[in-house]
Formats: sequence, structure tokens, C-alpha cells
Amino acid sequence: MFESIPAAPADPILGLADLYKSDLRPNKINLGIGVYKDETGLTPVMISVKKAEQQLLETETSKNYLSIEGYASYAQASQRLLLGTENPLLDSQCLYTAQTPGGTGALRVAADFLAQHTTTRRVWVSNPTWPNHHNIFAASGLEVATYTYYQPETHTFDIAAMLAALESAKAGDVVVLHGCCHNPTGIDPTPEQWQQLSAFIQRKSLLPLFDFAYQGLGQGLDEDAQGLRLFAESHQEFIVCSSYSKNFGLYNERTGAFTLRAATPQAASDAFSQVKAVIRANYSNPPSHGAAVVATILNDQTLRTIWEQELLEVRQRIQRMRQLFVQTLQEKGATQDFSFINRQNGMFSFSGLTKEQVTRLREEFAIYAVASGRINIAGMTPENMSRLCESIITVTR
Ligand code: PMP
Repeated sequence: MFESIPAAPADPILGLADLYKSDLRPNKINLGIGVYKDETGLTPVMISVKKAEQQLLETETSKNYLSIEGYASYAQASQRLLLGTENPLLDSQCLYTAQTPGGTGALRVAADFLAQHTTTRRVWVSNPTWPNHHNIFAASGLEVATYTYYQPETHTFDIAAMLAALESAKAGDVVVLHGCCHNPTGIDPTPEQWQQLSAFIQRKSLLPLFDFAYQGLGQGLDEDAQGLRLFAESHQEFIVCSSYSKNFGLYNERTGAFTLRAATPQAASDAFSQVKAVIRANYSNPPSHGAAVVATILNDQTLRTIWEQELLEVRQRIQRMRQLFVQTLQEKGATQDFSFINRQNGMFSFSGLTKEQVTRLREEFAIYAVASGRINIAGMTPENMSRLCESIITVTR
């Protein structure tokens, strides 16, 4: 039965991580997979996380199953972080959150829920987007359509093209929006553009689904949630799939959240009962550890202050590397203008490098980037910057 199965193509991003691992060249540079690395090239456990883990180790009394939706304290803390502590929706009973295995788990729960319990048949994702969006929604049997997002000549968000593409969307279609730090372009809508998108999506009766995987890695925890909070003011139905992989460095603990807002408490409660049925059939109930860590930190003022400081350092290091990258390219005589990289948010940058240039970087210089030209700014350090920029200048000449 199994002999006739053809091998699946390698995942474009995870496959690259394997290639990098097996590369024996000592000066290799990894700008591929989207994981934060510090100045020394390591992906550290945050101090706030270690402290929370110590507390949990001492106080944990059971490994009994969690409920299908996970910890209530985690759900509440997640809602406050997403929408702001003063948001009237918090007490509206129109908002429900389930703890999920990562942002990916949240997206898959959303996809199954939409496919099984709503009339939605089509989901619109940005072109380009995180490639797994296509896999996840297709796996639930939904059609995946794309809207133009990016204007390569000017390296900007092309809202006119996005709205033109979505003009053909039908009422009930879902629009996936990156809450902040758009992956892979690093370019986010301005507050005015969020407003425009919100009005358009409302007029067309589309359902907004926020994929929010990088809160706090762009401009700040509240600043990065501006788009979502603006939508939340006027949309009676939306979904948020959020992740703590990046902002808490909890990648392998699979820590995320699915949040649903419905028009009335009854509709929210009924819809959420179906979300729970979807979860039950997928993985029954979520893993505990990552969510216990996040809830401990978010609900303890001392730990929270430490975490926010650590997150600020992450953000600042990324911004420093962006500036140094642009400056070093200029100093070393790049003929192209790379200053647009300073205007992007979060870990990623759409560098404008072509597929061929990315291949040359890997083969000749042991520098790994995604074929689309996406580079992870957090893979840069003051030590590898010179060699990186010289290599880029060589392949772009
Ligand atoms: N959405 C986007 C846009 C992402 O970049 C990622 C992670 N690379 C995810 C969702 C999934 O996050 P997680 O690792 O928590 O599943």
C-alpha cells in the first residue's frame, strides 16, 4: 500500500534548515528560518521564562489533562494582550479563546471550524504570505485565493491592488490579515490603511481573520495591535490566531491561541462549542507547559516587567541590525538602494534578492536565505555583517 506513495516536496523553509545543518563550512550564516537569535547567534530561553518555569516546577501538582480550551487564566491574559486591558469586548461575553498548539494549531482549528460550521468556502491570503497558510486552509478543504500585497518596485504595501483583488470576493469569504510584521515582506499597513481595509471588508461582508504571530516584535505590544484593535471596534465577527513562539521564544512548546468574536453572547457561546468539538477531534486538548509559562508571566507584575524588557531588547536588536545592514551595504559600495529595509517591521525583510542570487549566496558563500528573497534580520550579528554584505554585493553586481 505504501510503495506507490511519491515523496512529498520539502517544505521551503524547514527544508532549508536541514540544508543549513548539514553544511560544514564554519562561517555559514543562517538568514532562513524565522527564529530570533541574539548577538551571539543563539536562540536563548528568556530570563522571565526560566523564572516562570522554576515557579511551575515547584508548584505543579498534577499532569492531569487540561480542558479542551485550556487554561482560563491564559485565555483572559491573551485577550487582554490582544485587545488592550480597557477594551469593552473583554466583558462582553462575545469573545472566547482556546489555548492551541502554536499559532499553526490555532490556524488549523480556525480552518476546520470555518469549513465545517460556516458557509465559508474561500479564504484569501496575501501574495506573498507565510507558505503554510496555503497548506493549512487547503487541508481543511477550503479554497485558497490570493490578493496582491506587495509592490516590488517601490517595496511598499500595495493597498490599491489588494482592494482590487478583493473586489471579486463574495460575502462570507475570509480575509487573512497579518496582525503586524507581515511575513515575508516586513511591511505593514499604516493606521489609515487599516481603517480603509476595515471599511472595505465590512462593506463586502467578508470575515477578517488575523494571524498575529509577532506581537511586540515590530514597534511595541500595543502599537503592533493597532490594526486588530481598530477592526475590533467595528466588526462584530472576527477570528484571531495568535502565537507566543516568537515574543516569548517558546517555539518548541507550541503555545498559541484561537480567539473568536461573535455578534451576541449566545452566538459566541454556540460557535465556541463547535470550536471545542473541532479541537476534540484534532488533538483533544492542548499541551500545558508553554501556556502555563505565558499565563504565569502575564499575570505576575514582576515577571511581566522582566519579559517586556527582554522583548524590548529583541526589538531593538533587530532594529539595530537593520540599520547596520543598510549602512554596511552602502559603505561597501552597493549599487542598489537598500534603505527600504529600514522601513520594514519585525524579523523579516523582503530583500529583493532573486532566486538565482539566493542560490549563489548559499552555494558560494554558505549564506542561507529563503528562495523568495526573504531574509531573517535576526540572523545578522555585528561579526557576520561585513562578510554578509560583501557577499550580497558580489551576487547583485
Ligand atoms: N503565522 C505566521 C505568519 C508565522 O510566521 C508563523 C511562524 N513562522 C506562524 C503563523 C506559526 O507560528 P507557530 O510556530 O506558533 O505555530
